[in-house]
Amino acid sequence: DPERRWEMEVRPLGQSRRLVRLIDHSQAAAAERMRTDFVANASHELRTPLATLMGFIETLEEANGTNDAAIRMRFLGIMGGEARRMQRLIDDLMSLSRIEADRYVRPRESIDLASTVRVACAEIEAGGIAGGRLRLTLPDSPLLARADSSQISQLIHNIVGNALKYGREGGEVKVTLQADDGSALLLVEDEGEGISRDHLPRLTERFYRVDAGRSRAVGGTGLGLAIVKHIVERHRGRLDIASTPGIGTRVSVVLPRDAEIL
Ligand code: ADP
Repeated sequence: DPERRWEMEVRPLGQSRRLVRLIDHSQAAAAERMRTDFVANASHELRTPLATLMGFIETLEEANGTNDAAIRMRFLGIMGGEARRMQRLIDDLMSLSRIEADRYVRPRESIDLASTVRVACAEIEAGGIAGGRLRLTLPDSPLLARADSSQISQLIHNIVGNALKYGREGGEVKVTLQADDGSALLLVEDEGEGISRDHLPRLTERFYRVDAGRSRAVGGTGLGLAIVKHIVERHRGRLDIASTPGIGTRVSVVLPRDAEIL
């Protein structure tokens, strides 16, 4: 493995003994490469809409003479779309860095997951993502867990948002929350085209997309599931994505409820 970088340190220990220490630098090298890849990807993702914006600004400046209001409005519409895309990306980048920063801090508050799911789903429906309808199945009584409510809300937005974006047009997205043996289980199931096996292990990588064109067309940043993974890790939970091409995708999140076992 060319990435493996060992360092050997030898120290004499008395007359006939030596202490040999092997230091493995390969992990640090891999982390450094991931960081530079990330900066390069993020810059590229921001530069693309920026280039479009600048192009339209120049065109509008040059076309100073044309007073065609319809063309101006069309250009402004496109420019607004690109600006919103940049905004989504910056919002996601900031969430990611915030979540990474407090990755080791245990959430302190105890929240009712049932109402968090209900409120987040109402917000999502109000946001009007085209796609399918949500069908919620929530426990009747509160389901308490030690969790960060804004992060759990973001997790729901990202997972349910994906189910709507990549689900079947006019189909159903089932959102189920249930208590399960000291944990809470959240299931989000869609009837979309699914994800083939080889992509599944990579979905939570930053900027990994199965179909980049489709993701951009539906307003994706490629960071949603990376954010979800971090939130789940911070809550010492488990994330599982299962999918059958042609049938749909099922995302499950298990969150421990008992703070003391964290
Ligand atoms: P994006 O912003 O592109 O949606 P995510 O990190 O949320 O980024 O998801 C990564 C990729 O995983 C998406 O681009 C899409 O290809 C795929 N994906 C996520 N959720 C689903 C789903 N429910 N059905 C099909 N594909 C999905």
